[in-house]
This record gives sequence, C-alpha cells and structure tokens, in this order.
Amino acid sequence: MKVAIYPGTFDPITYGHLDILRKATQIFDKVVLAVAEHTGKNTLFTTEERKQLCLEAVKGIDKVDVKSYNGLSVKFCRGINATHMIRGLRAVSDFEYELQIALFNKKLDQELETVFLIPDNKYLYLSSSMVRSVYELSGELQEFIPECAVKALNNKIGEKK
Ligand code: ADP
Repeated sequence: MKVAIYPGTFDPITYGHLDILRKATQIFDKVVLAVAEHTGKNTLFTTEERKQLCLEAVKGIDKVDVKSYNGLSVKFCRGINATHMIRGLRAVSDFEYELQIALFNKKLDQELETVFLIPDNKYLYLSSSMVRSVYELSGELQEFIPECAVKALNNKIGEKK
C-alpha cells in the first residue's frame, strides 16, 4: 500500500489544494492531507478550524485522510508509514522554496521522496493568502474556495468588520 502525505497550512483550503490532492489520489493508494499546526506563519484560522474545513472539503474524494500534526513533516510521515510527500508547484516562484524544502527533507530522511504536482491552469495563481486578501476587499471567492471556506471566512472576518 503506497501512502503519501500532502502537508501544508491550508489557511484556508482552496480549489488549488483540492486539485493537487485529486491528482495525488490517482497515483497513491492513500493520501493523508496533513494540516501543520506550526508553520511559522500567523494563521487566520486555528489548526482545528483549518482541519475541519479540510475534512468538509475532501468529502467525496476517495482514498483521503485528514490529520493535523506538530513538528517536522518527515517525522509525521515516518509515523504513518508514508513514503512520499506531495507538494504543489505553481509559478516558477514556488520552485526555489519547494526545492529547498525537498532537499532538506531528503537530508533528514533518505527514504522519503517528494513528488511535485502541477495544478490545472486556472489554479496556477491561486493561494490561500490571495484568498484572504480578496475576501478582505469583499471579492467573489466561490470560484476559488469550497463553500465551507467561504462560510468560515464570513464568520471569521465578517465578525471583525
Ligand atoms: P505551505 O505553508 O506549506 O506552503 P500551503 O497550504 O500554502 O502550505 O500549500 C501547501 C502546498 O500546496 C504547497 O506545496 C503549495 O505550493 C501547494 N499549493 C497551494 N496552492 C496551490 C495551487 N493553487 N496550486 C498548486 N499547488 C498549490
């Protein structure tokens, strides 16, 4: 059984993430969407909120588990017997950052392979941070994030406005 993890912040999960996840399930027997607790980023949503949104969003996609984790991704990977780590590549700007992480993770665990997947064109410029900014400016987001994430943003940012 080939297991991969797809780690990230998912603050919040977008259709870009879901596109990568779907592609990964076509390659692996199981894909664990792993919501990082500490990412060094100041997240809008708590870990539990991010996880709940992911759980809701992946309904209907087979072979997916959602878990949150603390600490190094490679350690979490090993703990659940995953052999591969999925990362998404958008514009060239992602490449250097992602390569650095992949090489570092390889150093920490020789057995672990990183697999890069490229999203469909329409998600190439989509990021969680863009979604959060567009929301603040009251833009339309239905095209980019699942309904549960739109509602969560309404609750989270709407209450501050
Ligand atoms: P991180 O904080 O680890 O970058 P993210 O949740 O922002 O976490 O992203 C997780 C992974 O998904 C990263 O590899 C990122 O490049 C990828 N990703 C995010 N948005 C998209 C998208 N629209 N298309 C393809 N990959 C994406």
